[in-house]
Amino acid sequence: MTASADVVIVGAGIAGVSAAHELAVRRGFEKVVIVDPRPPLSLTSDKSTECYRNYWPNLPMVALMNRSIDLLDEMSLASGNAFGLNRRGYLFVTAKQERLMELVESSHVSSSFGSGPVRIHHDPDSYRAADDGFDVLANSETLRQHFPYLTGEAVGALHVRRAGWFSAQQLGSWMLEQAKDRDAEVVVDEVIDIDIAGGQVRSVKLASGRVITTSVVIDAAGPLSPNVARLAEVDLPVFSELHLKVAFRDHLEVVPRNAPMIIWSDPQTIAWSDEEKTELLNQDRHQLVAEMPIFCHGRPEGGAESPYLLALWEYHKAVTEPLWPLPTDPLYPEVVMRGMATMVPELGQYLDRLPHSVVDGGYYSKTRENRPLIGPAGPKGFHLMSAMSGFGVMVAAGAADLVASHITGGPVAEYAKSFLLSRYDDPDYVAQIAALEDAALEDAGLEDAGLEDAGQL
Ligand SMILES: Cc1cc2nc3c(=O)[nH]c(=O)nc-3n(C[C@H](O)[C@H](O)[C@H](O)COP(=O)(O)OP(=O)(O)OC[C@H]3O[C@@H](n4cnc5c(N)ncnc54)[C@H](O)[C@@H]3O)c2cc1C
Repeated sequence: MTASADVVIVGAGIAGVSAAHELAVRRGFEKVVIVDPRPPLSLTSDKSTECYRNYWPNLPMVALMNRSIDLLDEMSLASGNAFGLNRRGYLFVTAKQERLMELVESSHVSSSFGSGPVRIHHDPDSYRAADDGFDVLANSETLRQHFPYLTGEAVGALHVRRAGWFSAQQLGSWMLEQAKDRDAEVVVDEVIDIDIAGGQVRSVKLASGRVITTSVVIDAAGPLSPNVARLAEVDLPVFSELHLKVAFRDHLEVVPRNAPMIIWSDPQTIAWSDEEKTELLNQDRHQLVAEMPIFCHGRPEGGAESPYLLALWEYHKAVTEPLWPLPTDPLYPEVVMRGMATMVPELGQYLDRLPHSVVDGGYYSKTRENRPLIGPAGPKGFHLMSAMSGFGVMVAAGAADLVASHITGGPVAEYAKSFLLSRYDDPDYVAQIAALEDAALEDAGLEDAGLEDAGQL
């Protein structure tokens, strides 16, 4: 058992494992220890939809995500693409002309921060393969020629190109093996205390009673990171939001295996029968009979032979203490299938008899403005990789790169300050967040909030 370490990482989710890889493999740290009572990647990081994109509404997030995707590309090359990284993109589909205009506008905003050029296609022939920027399929004909399985109601779509998905479990396993080859160690235990003296981290105490002396601790404890931060007397402005996802057996092969991530970008109302409506109201499920939120979305899962379709629709908006086992919603598969059938009408075949499905999920750990917390906070030597929200898998490599630069005292990227906890010490920044929250409420989730809400995807 290690009695001392250069760095102790609390948590072996994708954040902690990425930090271990960055420090041990890329930066040559000799004694990196990860402590976690659970098997690596098993709490939240293997429950994700595993998608990534550089489409964000502000400069720091675009820059951080571009860095992260650069690193994912590098690791994909180095590992022979052991984790199945693809560049299928995110396709935001709408049945409303004004919504299409909003999506185009938001792509220009993101583009101005460095997420690539915007190309508009009025003619099906001009739309072709790309791995950066945005393609706007500007009319129904152009859209349906390339995506014939989408509803004829759709008037167009925004295809985000520096985007796709990969296996977070396989990436995590590959990074962990590489880190272990450089003597990084995983200790199966729980960090229950952090000793601080003279304003400097000195050691961590584990539930087993063991102590590891170290001058650097990274809090990568996912939804439990506020508890770990409290051990270092740091208060995190972070809350947890429940998110579910469902895997369906698409045995009729409705969604093609080569589809991108498809996202219905309009609000919709589910066409329940009168009887169903009465029953839902009796069950106090009023929300399901009212207008439902934007962004019901899904993608094929697995290789060419796999029948699985992953799908999500965040209509619960449940901010709660993170507790396991997760609260369940027995109606989730049916509601999501109904939402998806609005975008892909052939999925309606499943509504009489839902195919086999498996629901899982976890907690998004979020700040108010949905930006992560990365870097030093509180006593010297204490660092955060926290509040990874619905983008932890895509941002982990970039966050690990950033936290490692802070730890080594090397030059940090321009965007570093945007992710520090100390950003909340700036009254102008706090006022900006409040103004954004007000605007989002007024827009009822369709403008500024539309792209911020895409943080859920
Ligand atoms: C339904 C769903 C869909 C998602 N889709 C996407 C997506 O498409 N793209 C994307 O990028 N992200 C997505 N996410 C978000 C992503 O999964 C998370 O942001 C990410 O997994 C968080 O990783 P983490 O390492 O911070 O936390 P976790 O994976 O939760 O790991 C934290 C670890 O810390 C350990 N720990 C806690 N306390 C202690 C302690 N005291 N001592 C030691 N260890 C401790 C825990 O045991 C756990 O193993 C999704 C999430 C959900 C729930």
